[in-house]
Amino acid sequence: MRDKRYDLLFEPVKIGPVTAKNRFYQVPHCTGLGRLRPRMLAALRGMKAEGGWGVVCTEYCSIHPASDDLPHPHASLWNDDDIKDHALMTEAVHRHGALAGAELWVGGARTANLYTRETAIDVASMPNLAGHPYQSQAMDKSDIRELRRWHRNAALRAKEAGFDIVYVYATHGYLLSHFLSAHSNTRSDEYGGSMENRARLVRELIEDTKDAVGEKCAVAVRYSVGGDDGEDPSLTSERRDRLEMLAELPDLWDININDYYQEMGVSRFIKEGSLEEHMSFVKSVTTKPVVTVGRFTSPDTMASQVRRGIVDFIGAARPSIADPFLPKKIEEGRLEEIRECIGCNICYAGDGLGVPIRCTQNPTMGEEWRRGWHPEQIPQKSSDASVLIVGAGPAGLEAARALGQRGYRVTLAEATRELGGRVARESTLPGLGEWRRVSDYRLGQIEAMPNVEVFRESELSVDEVLAVGADHLVMATGSTWRADGFGRTHPKPLTTLSTAARILTPDDIMAGQLPDGPTVIFDDDSFYMGGVIAEKVRRENVPVTLVTPENVVSAWCEYTSEHYQVQKNLLELGVDIKTGHSLLAYDGREVTLCCIHTERQQSIEAGALIMVTARSPRDELYQALKQRMEEGAQMPFRSLRRIGDCEAPAMIAAAVYAGHRYAREFDTEPDPDASCRLK
Ligand code: ADP
Ligand code: SF4
Repeated sequence: MRDKRYDLLFEPVKIGPVTAKNRFYQVPHCTGLGRLRPRMLAALRGMKAEGGWGVVCTEYCSIHPASDDLPHPHASLWNDDDIKDHALMTEAVHRHGALAGAELWVGGARTANLYTRETAIDVASMPNLAGHPYQSQAMDKSDIRELRRWHRNAALRAKEAGFDIVYVYATHGYLLSHFLSAHSNTRSDEYGGSMENRARLVRELIEDTKDAVGEKCAVAVRYSVGGDDGEDPSLTSERRDRLEMLAELPDLWDININDYYQEMGVSRFIKEGSLEEHMSFVKSVTTKPVVTVGRFTSPDTMASQVRRGIVDFIGAARPSIADPFLPKKIEEGRLEEIRECIGCNICYAGDGLGVPIRCTQNPTMGEEWRRGWHPEQIPQKSSDASVLIVGAGPAGLEAARALGQRGYRVTLAEATRELGGRVARESTLPGLGEWRRVSDYRLGQIEAMPNVEVFRESELSVDEVLAVGADHLVMATGSTWRADGFGRTHPKPLTTLSTAARILTPDDIMAGQLPDGPTVIFDDDSFYMGGVIAEKVRRENVPVTLVTPENVVSAWCEYTSEHYQVQKNLLELGVDIKTGHSLLAYDGREVTLCCIHTERQQSIEAGALIMVTARSPRDELYQALKQRMEEGAQMPFRSLRRIGDCEAPAMIAAAVYAGHRYAREFDTEPDPDASCRLK
């Protein structure tokens, strides 16, 4: 059972008129579901409550159509239909004894209102901060009165929908933070000028919300204590003074910093508990409960945060996504079963892309309603069939773990000594150490399963596969990086690469083959790998030029909210970045590049060229077995499948999902319409 050291995490905490049953607090986080997919959302939030979170909040929830962030799917409380949708969530959350929180939100100049076509309002007329060609309208006194009315009405709707906590959201670069800031608030009326004046609107909204719903609902304020990279220290110190001024007004302080890149930083750059240095003063200036985030997955860190008086609640977005049952596992002393977040931010990409959330560690995330998947439970086996899985990367490991959980007899064969496939290899690259948690969790689970046998150093041939005699075969043999230039830019292998030239791939670098002279990296993949390889090589004191046809390095990292840090890091390391160029040729001495806009050519001296372009599925075994089947040979197995990168190379989250889906659907008749069900 539970370790006594963690008892304090399960103490109830009063928040104004309501009481949370424990200190586990799922802070507001986006899901790519929002107002578009209320059923998927209700099931997702309900699962967190079932997993033991004492408080479960919405994502940013718009109070009025003048705050519309589509294509990013936010929640809304615009009308009575929205009340019904949210009631699905609050019922699901209450069913498990948790409190439900609604984060009322006004985007201001961050939203262009592309869907509703309403004019955005803000403290001043300023350009849209997401880069759209719109500008906000400066609010006059009647607009402020209107805003207060909208906020009050949304709070009343939140109460009617069954929420227990209602937020005033005063941070993250949205409207209220512009009022607060001496930097952006240039007004000369009673809402501008002194610190008191700039805080007037926030104070009024706290008071309005208390007045409207305060008897039943707690009022929380989400607030930034600053300390962000490059922020003027006087602004940071004013944030503290202002917090002190408002300290006793709300029922709870939900504290973060403005800088998303740190607050929800990827593990490559930001480690557990990184906000503490900025926010540790908060509890000394307020008697109200305080929550903050820090990608907390260690119960020792959590208990220490509470014991040392840093927070009252352990706030979590990502750890609750990777493991909705984290609190239950701590409560029941099942620490080794915790599926720790790896800090890859694939979950956040759903919001940026406007599609449902997914998680690298938790393949059931977002599928609770659509496919009826539960993160901890899975139907038991319906036959005595045995399964051979070849390849112990994320796809093979997850398939083995989930089939093992179902009770099937599983043999997992892996060519190398080390298990984990690409996760084992990639986690040796700079900053990616936590990615190993993908295999650590699965191996820990598999070890305890007597029905799953693992064979290392077992590179299987077709005959060896057949000799195992399993009823069902799954090839999870992964992929290899290509060295021939094929990729998005070049639909055919390049014929302009000298056969004598030193051309490497990320696989070579991960296997320890490092170039020792000036190196060009051609990154036609544009996710994290090119930038990480550039860092790795540059750290060997080798001059590195990173070439990409995109306009920025590691362009897809914009979705995982790490792009700024990637580029900053590479520039600080002295990597020469060449955007908007593609690779034409390499003769072993010079790399020839071509500007994608002007077609002007230039040459760079290089002793090695690293290709980060595309991968080839490692599917020889699958193809050979399939061929034998097609030749009509009598096969000793009943089915043959390939999953993960062996089927179609993609991100790690896709491989884990493929392994999980195979195991879920094994021996069943899957619903062909499941992936179309989006509500
Ligand atoms: P995925 O991301 O799809 O899980 P990975 O590339 O991470 O794929 O993992 C594939 C694993 O399969 C690697 O660890 C590789 O060593 C292993 N593998 C490839 N071919 C064979 C084979 N013939 N027999 C056993 N293991 C293999
Ligand atoms: Fe953590 Fe990555 Fe899952 Fe997000 S997607 S919760 S960062 S493991």
